[in-house]
This record gives sequence, structure tokens and C-alpha cells, in this order.
Amino acid sequence: MNEGPTTDPPDSDPELPSPRPARASRPAVLPFSFAGEVVLPNERRRVELPAARLATETHLTIPAEIVHGRRPGPCLWLSAAVHGDELNGVEIIRQILGRLDPEVLRGTVVAVPVVNVFGFIEQSRYLPDRRDLNRSFPGSSSGSLASRIAHLFMREVVAHCQYGIDLHTGANHRSNTPQIRANLNDPETRRIGEAFGAPVVQHSATRDGSLREAAGRLGVHVLLYEAGEALRIDDEPVRVGVNGVLRVMHALGMRSTRPKQKGRTIEVGRSTWVRPRASGLARLDVKLGDRVEHRQRLGFVTSAFGEVACHIDAPHAGVVIGLARNPLVNKGDGVVHVGRIVDREAGAS
Ligand SMILES: [Zn+2]
Repeated sequence: MNEGPTTDPPDSDPELPSPRPARASRPAVLPFSFAGEVVLPNERRRVELPAARLATETHLTIPAEIVHGRRPGPCLWLSAAVHGDELNGVEIIRQILGRLDPEVLRGTVVAVPVVNVFGFIEQSRYLPDRRDLNRSFPGSSSGSLASRIAHLFMREVVAHCQYGIDLHTGANHRSNTPQIRANLNDPETRRIGEAFGAPVVQHSATRDGSLREAAGRLGVHVLLYEAGEALRIDDEPVRVGVNGVLRVMHALGMRSTRPKQKGRTIEVGRSTWVRPRASGLARLDVKLGDRVEHRQRLGFVTSAFGEVACHIDAPHAGVVIGLARNPLVNKGDGVVHVGRIVDREAGAS
């Protein structure tokens, strides 16, 4: 928890506006207390969060970088690699940090490029005990390793922030069309979700134990960005992600410039994983972002000898928001993810 400023603010204007009336809001021109360190206005600082002491007595830390603007504004966290093998977000945060200047930034950015340091080292989605960190929030100080890391993140990062963007990729040899998942029923979350400008935005019911759910319960407005594939750095998903984060920062008044959005955003509602009726080698005739019609042929599955075992057809019209990259499929595996398009003017289609 932020214990507040330890020195007088450099600008003591009593009329200084607070960025938001939400909890934990305070003028960003005050020094920023983070994990026992004090970051002054117009300063950036690398801070290590103590994650665990290993059996070797080695101390493992989660590195964070604080960019504390000279001018007041909201506090935004950026996190990646909550699933340790999801690298696109790490690259997005690297590029964002290179663009931030505390001299002109309004507010504060708390950047945590590798949350699951164990999984990152092991190139694994999980923690050493196979727990999924994104099912372990809000965690507890006396729980499992996953639960303690979740608790640490909630206490040291989420508690400071009014906004958060958590960066992910597809899992299990799957790739995702760049997309925002968020609670679009919350007007402010919808506003920043649309400002991001991803090709796809989807209202998503929160899942138990996710960072997004736990932070949302505290009134924090959280976007989840899903793009590309695990264990890759995909150029286009990274480009869309960097521009999207910068566009959200503009919408929050943290930056004066806004990158142009390329293409329009499609809002999708419910989505379906299309599953083949036979095992074999899948050949797909669609790619990420394609529009498909009801019953359109999406591909087929053959045996190793070439016989067609089954066709893969669209169960409804929509847009392809995810694909399997591994052609080896078992009957029932999800191979194409189709989202129904929500047309806000003409009604659902
Ligand atoms: Zn993930």
C-alpha cells in the first residue's frame, strides 16, 4: 500500500486538481512511495519487488520501473508476462518506456514487464508448482507462491493505480487477433477500451482469480490486451499494442499526442471455438481478422495419408479472433475462434 508522500510536495497549490476522485488518487506531483522507495516528480526509477527467497537462499525479485511525471495526472500500471511465456507485452512495455519522458508526462506509470519471473525464466505459462498466476488473484500473504505473488502485486502495484493494462498473448500454440477484453458495461472502462483502437474489442465476463477481476473489484479500470502467440515477438501485435497504450494515455490526459488508429475497431459479443469432429492435420483457409459467414468452409482435417477426415465450418457469422498454429489436432480441439460481431447501429448480426 502506498504510505503517501514522505516530503512536502514541490508544488503546494491548494487548488491543484486531483486526477480522479477514486480511491488512492492524489496529486501526482507529490513524491511517489513505491515498495519502500520514494520517487520524486520528474523522475524515473527501477525498483525491485521482493518476490520470494529460493531454496538456495537466493532472493528473487520482480523488477518495476516507475515513471513519475512532473505534472499531475492518474496512475496507470502496465503489466506483462503474468503468464511467463507471453512475450509480446514485454516488448510493448520496453517500447513504451522508451517513449516516456517524466518532464512532460502527466501522472505516473508503473511498468512491470515480467510479473511471473519464474515462468519467464522457465519459458512457461505457469509457476513452478503448475499454478496459473492469473487464477490466483487477489492472493494472500500466507498462501502458495502464486497466491503470495498475486498479493504482492495487488499491494504494491494495483493499490496505487486508477487504471491498468495487462498484456497477454494466446496460449497452447494459439494466436490471437489483437483484441481488448474488458468490462464494457463500465462506461469509463469502455471509453479507454475504445480509445485503445485494437482491431477487436470484446466484453468479457471476468474469470475468478484473474488480475483484471481482482483489480476491477477495487474500482480500478482494467484493460486486458490479447495479441499474437506465446514465445514469439509478433511485429503487428506489438505495433498495435504500443499505439494502443499510447492512445489510452492520451485519453487519460497523460500525453498530449495520440498515434493514429489503423483500421476500425470491431466489437464482438459471444464467441465460439470451432472444434473438428476428427483428429489429424488441420489446414485452415482463414487468417486472423477475417470475416466469415455462417457455414463458411474454414478448413479441413486429413489423416497422415491425405484422406479428408472432416471439414471445419463456421458455426455462425463473425470475425476470426484466434487460431491454432499447431496443425496437429485431436477431435474436439479448438482450432478457429469466431466472435459474433455486434453492430451498435443495426443490432447484433
Ligand atoms: Zn496470458
